[in-house]
Amino acid sequence: MNNSDHPGSGPQPRFQVCIIPVTPLQQNCSIIWSTKTREAAIVDPGGEADRIITAVAELDVNVAAIWLTHGHIDHVGAAGPIRKRFDVPIVGPHAKDQFLLDAIEASSGKYGIQGATNVTPDRYLSEGDKVELSGIDFDVYECPGHTPGHIVLVQPDDAFAFVGDVLFRGSVGRSDFPYSNHDDLIHSIVHKLWPLGNEIRFLPGHGPMSTFGQERIDNAFVADSVLGIEER
Ligand SMILES: [Zn+2]
Ligand SMILES: [Zn+2]
Repeated sequence: MNNSDHPGSGPQPRFQVCIIPVTPLQQNCSIIWSTKTREAAIVDPGGEADRIITAVAELDVNVAAIWLTHGHIDHVGAAGPIRKRFDVPIVGPHAKDQFLLDAIEASSGKYGIQGATNVTPDRYLSEGDKVELSGIDFDVYECPGHTPGHIVLVQPDDAFAFVGDVLFRGSVGRSDFPYSNHDDLIHSIVHKLWPLGNEIRFLPGHGPMSTFGQERIDNAFVADSVLGIEER
């Protein structure tokens, strides 16, 4: 466990986020919890359910839900075991990623992720939906391209977003899968994420955090200079 994070402003942030890198792909599983109630959601539990469960106990938080950004095994592998352990709903991604959620067991050997199970979410997410944690709402945006049903979760007041494998510090999500679409991915970033504001801090599915504004300056794929965008 590392990177206990304090989004938001002021001495008492409304929520905190702890990042737990899991799986051989070092996927950023995160636990987000309300500072006031200690109600928590586990975001993208890719694998190593035991480590995540231990972290929940150490943080002394009450898990209320599992939030998934997309259907790839490195984000979903431990979702089944964790749903069973805490008896909480799996929320997201969009239904268009169900074909990936149905293939988790089949791909677990290939990625060296143990104990992974296929899952069907208790609730799919679509554009305009909200997910809620102790009164803190996250807005849902459909951001296809990396996968067809990828969603992003944004808390505008705290200027914080979970973006999964859409956008990384300095890079963007893979689009070489048969079901991926690079143009859709770039469209998602430019037309869904950038309008939310340069100040938004994002936690990607892999690697360090950044801000949309920083990526618009120097991201190798989607900087304004790379895309020929003149106005900021
Ligand atoms: Zn992915
Ligand atoms: Zn990933």
